[in-house]
Amino acid sequence: MEAPEAKPTAVDMDELKRHFAAFLQEQRYRNTSERMRILERVAEMPGHFTADELYVYMHTKGDKVSRATVYSTLELLRQCDLVVRHSFDGGSMKYELAARLPNHDHLFCTDCGRMVEFCFPQLRELVQQIAQQYSLRAVRHSLHIFARCPRLAECPHRLG
Ligand SMILES: [Zn+2]
Ligand SMILES: [Zn+2]
Repeated sequence: MEAPEAKPTAVDMDELKRHFAAFLQEQRYRNTSERMRILERVAEMPGHFTADELYVYMHTKGDKVSRATVYSTLELLRQCDLVVRHSFDGGSMKYELAARLPNHDHLFCTDCGRMVEFCFPQLRELVQQIAQQYSLRAVRHSLHIFARCPRLAECPHRLG
């Protein structure tokens, strides 16, 4: 049986903005239109992206934000769990909107570069069991699986 890849879910932008606004207020950060615009643009990114890619995208859209503001706002979005940050295999930091694909993990083919985002409910149960063994309650986890293509010559995802 072929395992299904995780599919993006519809995102409730108003809900995300309320969550961010509440966090900013709680932490006594200023709630600026720039910060809210960055959250909107993050939600428009199709998948994983670097801070620089977001910065470039915002400029093509005519948003006048500094690189420093993009970086610092991504960090705030990460602190309130709206954005997840990954460091895949030592590459540059990648971000993604947490609500885009909730609770998914990543599988990589190190031969061809193919990346799969998957969601295994059994895995979430296992993570919870592991945490419980140590009297903890898991709130999130991150699993990166690195794999090889069985027949590289026939790999349909091979780059180049
Ligand atoms: Zn491959
Ligand atoms: Zn992902």
